[in-house]
Amino acid sequence: LAAFLLCMASFLSAVAGQLRPMPAGGLPSDLVALGMASKIQTDRNSTARASSDFGRMVEAAPEAVLQPATAADIAELIRFSTSSPVPFPVSPRGQGHSVRGQSLAPGGVVVDMRALGRGDHRINVSADYVDAGGEQLWVDVLRGTLTHGLAPCAWTDYLRLTVGGTLSNAGIGGQAFRHGPQIANVHELDVVTGTGEMVTCSPHKRKDLFFAVLGGLGQFGIITRARIALEPAPKQVRWVRLAYSDVVAFTRDQELLISKQASEAGFDYVEGQVQLNRTLTEGPKSTPFFSEADINRLASLASETGSRAIYFIEAAMYYDETTAPYVDQKLETVLAQLSFVPGFVFTKDVTYLQFLDRVRVEEVVLRSAGVWDVPHPWLNLFIPRSRILDFDAGVLKGILGGDNPVGLILMYPMNTAKWNSQMTAVTPPTREDVFYTVGLLRSALSTNELERLQRENQSVLAFCDKEGIECKQYLPHYTCQDGWRRHFGPKWRKITQLKAKYDPHAIMSPGQRIFQLPS
Ligand code: FAD
Repeated sequence: LAAFLLCMASFLSAVAGQLRPMPAGGLPSDLVALGMASKIQTDRNSTARASSDFGRMVEAAPEAVLQPATAADIAELIRFSTSSPVPFPVSPRGQGHSVRGQSLAPGGVVVDMRALGRGDHRINVSADYVDAGGEQLWVDVLRGTLTHGLAPCAWTDYLRLTVGGTLSNAGIGGQAFRHGPQIANVHELDVVTGTGEMVTCSPHKRKDLFFAVLGGLGQFGIITRARIALEPAPKQVRWVRLAYSDVVAFTRDQELLISKQASEAGFDYVEGQVQLNRTLTEGPKSTPFFSEADINRLASLASETGSRAIYFIEAAMYYDETTAPYVDQKLETVLAQLSFVPGFVFTKDVTYLQFLDRVRVEEVVLRSAGVWDVPHPWLNLFIPRSRILDFDAGVLKGILGGDNPVGLILMYPMNTAKWNSQMTAVTPPTREDVFYTVGLLRSALSTNELERLQRENQSVLAFCDKEGIECKQYLPHYTCQDGWRRHFGPKWRKITQLKAKYDPHAIMSPGQRIFQLPS
């Protein structure tokens, strides 16, 4: 433990050294004299709670935490900072479910976004959209809209994330092939910019700010409300997993399922997972989806076929009372076109809410096993379709072939056309019709494991670089501005211009480490 803490301490001080802290002496003393002084907490308990995140690899304390009651409180704080002789950093924090310190504000003020919704239920449903506070959890947006028989179309796998937190990245999941990421399903935003201005923006009004903020990593302003598109909510879901021992068949079928001709008549949700052999033989004996007998069958499939990995298409078909009689037939028609290992079809019928909130069940299991609040050196990449087999051979069957950490590997394709290139979020530069997301979502249960997984992540990035695989990081993390410049590519110039316009003092979300406060 001592070694672990020592290693963490040196890592954290390195991080803190690169993030420009507050001027010595902390926050300007007249901050606490502001009208909202009672909402500013400077006690150690409050600042400690805002000092780390889900990744548990970075720690840096703010000087204070703002518990805003209204968006105007946030605007006042920002204006106070920008009018100070030395502006201080301000970072909105949703659930703090980033993994590399993106929501931290070393030496500045963290805005606890969840406080916004405490007194007031900020979810208002209309006929085809919902107005949700940026602080709202997606699970609450779902519950609020379901009471009207409606729901947003695009989801992340896990719903205990805030609206502002996922819209600052993209918000991807198995519906993205049809509806695009969550950022492609927003009509309008309320934003408090880095100059303290409160702006309502949309594709028709202040559109530079609208597109900047969607996928904008918190760099241009704070989302306090999002108007999100709704569709009629299905009642039930046929949840399916299909096993493959051959990556070529697996990717060919995934691409068929997300293709235009197949998608309307096929699944409503398409994702995929990879289980390296050791996960099947040495991992949990059963999971919330697979019984012990299923896992044993899958493990024998792996050993019989000699495959170093088993791949699963995870898919879902939505239905309700009127379509229920046809769901078996519809599923059969779709399955008849696919090349999974015969007999390796696993299905479950669940409600729509149970399906969308499925990771909550995993969370409960992981929490009870004590492996939820541990370091998460996650790496998410967008890989051009043309290089996914090279990635599979070099990374999944090569670099990751070693020990068997707790966690998950996701791999599924999305349609590039569903991503609006005006937004800040980036996709692979090749602009092929399809790209894959690969999530190496692994947890470290010891210092050695954390170090090993971090090294493996570096090797994965070096492999892509060496092999000329033009991937992009999703939920990106770079330690120097050069990395960010390469990440944004042709968008970089525009991003610096938007930054100069909407956050000229570079105070917003410093934990992303894109811009430094000017000295
Ligand atoms: P935070 O971590 O609090 O903040 C993230 C960044 O956004 C910070 O820079 C912060 O300053 C900024 N920010 C926060 N709120 C606002 C706001 N209102 N306005 C502007 N900027 C803001 N992502 C997917 O796309 N798909 C998934 O399926 C998925 N599954 C996940 C499962 C788990 C278990 C976890 C831990 C994460 C998952 N993620 C997924 C990643 C997740 O979407 C991002 O980490 C997201 O940022 C977390 O939201 P949050 O509310 O915790 O944001």
